[in-house]
Amino acid sequence: MKNCHQNIHFNSNWQNELANAYTDPLVLLHYLQLHEKHLPYRIAKSADFPMRVPQSYADRMEKGNPYDPLLLQTLPLISEQLEVEGYVADPVGDLEAIVSPGMLHKYHNRVLLISTGACAIHCRYCFRRNFPYSDSILTRSHWEDYNDHLKSHPEINEVILSGGDPLVLSDTRLQAIYNNLDNFKQIKIIRIHTRVPVVLPKRVDSHFLKAIKQSHKQFVLVLHCNHANEINHQVVDAISSLRDHNIILLNQSVLLKGINDSVEALAELSEKLTFAGVLPYYLHMLDPVQGAAHFAVSEHRAKDIMTTLRSKISGYMLPRLVREIAGKSSKIPV
Ligand SMILES: *Cc1c(COP(=O)(O)O)cnc(C)c1O
Ligand code: SF4
Repeated sequence: MKNCHQNIHFNSNWQNELANAYTDPLVLLHYLQLHEKHLPYRIAKSADFPMRVPQSYADRMEKGNPYDPLLLQTLPLISEQLEVEGYVADPVGDLEAIVSPGMLHKYHNRVLLISTGACAIHCRYCFRRNFPYSDSILTRSHWEDYNDHLKSHPEINEVILSGGDPLVLSDTRLQAIYNNLDNFKQIKIIRIHTRVPVVLPKRVDSHFLKAIKQSHKQFVLVLHCNHANEINHQVVDAISSLRDHNIILLNQSVLLKGINDSVEALAELSEKLTFAGVLPYYLHMLDPVQGAAHFAVSEHRAKDIMTTLRSKISGYMLPRLVREIAGKSSKIPV
């Protein structure tokens, strides 16, 4: 079955697959041979933060399983509409950290660029699900401002491309960002935070890699993978072509109730990532963003899981359990 799907999509490019992503929960459920009336939860048929699932990601979901960990990351539920105390629109203080539109400077030596508001997938637990992208995205008209910020802060040696997901930008746009940074000697590292090589691996194509090869900077790519089932052989291939280009590969995950909140799930994820050439970097506590409370894992349970995990896998496979607290000078170890 799997192989036959791969063949169907083999000829379409990544933009096509993105344009044809599932946006209607009922259509995705139908594809997965699930019936709305038999589900153990209630889905939201329309949501402010709509569903978005590329076909290649849907192909990795188990048919007939309403608890599939990939499905649960992407399916809009009625429970998102609950108002829960402490769950807010901007849980990590992003808005206070904006130094010019699209540029966040929270930590000493690194700035983060909101390069786009778009993503290849919509993750229901996303801490930027309510981010006011329309007035806070990096645009060409603000390049002067952000170059000025770099010039007046010589301590900045790393620029992080985030979003949204920077890999939904065209290669031309990415190349323009790299070219601009090549003018800055102080910048040693371009870091890309992206979920795309995991959810839409065909995006890692020769054009994308060529732009990186032409830049003079060291690239670090931080993937975002939450479950071992997300890693199929196309993802492994994408990772290996990134490695062939001397890109340092790390992974960050979010600890999510019902998805990866067990020692077994996290051990399998760490092993699979490491065998593919990606080192686990962070395991984030859920940011208390409005609409995501049903994914929360308590700190007590998170620590218990980590203690057992530490005894089961090699030290270098263990991600750092952290939480982000608005106003702090780094992510905070739990
Ligand atoms: C998380 C984050 C970073 C990166 O922090 P690291 O600990 O270096 O991974 C940088 N800038 C902002 C605004 C962030 O939220
Ligand atoms: S890909 Fe990243 S930014 Fe986009 S919805 Fe998912 S977690 Fe949020």
